[in-house]
Amino acid sequence: MTPLKIHVAQRPFFCFDFASIFFASIRRWVCAVGAEVEFLNSSGRQSEDAQNGATPRAMQRAYELLSRAYGPQHWWPADTKLEIVVGAVLVQNTAWRNVERAITNLNGLGLDTLDALHAIDADQLAEAIRPAGYFRVKARRLRNLTTMIVERYGGSLDKMLKDESNALRAALLGVNGVGPETADAILCYAAERPVFVADAYGKRVLERHGWLPHGSRYDDQQRLVEEQMPPDTQTLNELHALIVNVGKLHCGPKPRCEGCPLAPMLPPSGAIINGEPAT
Ligand code: SF4
Repeated sequence: MTPLKIHVAQRPFFCFDFASIFFASIRRWVCAVGAEVEFLNSSGRQSEDAQNGATPRAMQRAYELLSRAYGPQHWWPADTKLEIVVGAVLVQNTAWRNVERAITNLNGLGLDTLDALHAIDADQLAEAIRPAGYFRVKARRLRNLTTMIVERYGGSLDKMLKDESNALRAALLGVNGVGPETADAILCYAAERPVFVADAYGKRVLERHGWLPHGSRYDDQQRLVEEQMPPDTQTLNELHALIVNVGKLHCGPKPRCEGCPLAPMLPPSGAIINGEPAT
């Protein structure tokens, strides 16, 4: 019986050992195949992103890549809702640092409330915002905006920002000098609505990757992003800020794709410039 015991005792051990080796081998094979599949998936994902244009997850992947590269953007850089609203008008066709100087001037003159801003003489207002450029035009636009807030919302910025999104957007677009980008910036950053702010940076990035055709319009860009991204204010806030950042750092009038976080998503032939592959 002893040999049998030994045999019985050893056989399971042998079987277990054999099974361990067998299963370990299988596991290694599965891992190797898994790694290969993952590798193929990642390279396949790249070419799929690139070749299919705006795949359902292209924007989400772009968001992931940009977030990973740049981290939180903390937009909008302002201390109050009024500063966001005023800044959205002043930033038209100028750099943010110029807007900051204009807002510092406004605050220095005590124009940090809607009433004060609305009451100030037009020439004084223009002079205060001079650093933001096109200061007479922008002063008129600000005055148009404060007039709308006074007439429609009784002068309450709070009331305006609580209005229903479509009504608020329509009211903003009804102001002479407020276009879709300014209106959506106010909606997203001041009223905290899940709205994507399309702009020239976004147009470049999306067209150069083939996600939008050359000559796309504001609404095309906004629709594409909003269809692909969750309707979440913070995410859309962040995505716009990230696109502006990549636009400034890499995707200027001439793209600098090398080292760009979105380079893995380029079409195989590279960035598309004015509807044509770069090469
Ligand atoms: S620089 Fe090149 S890779 Fe970067 S966003 Fe522009 S086109 Fe894409």
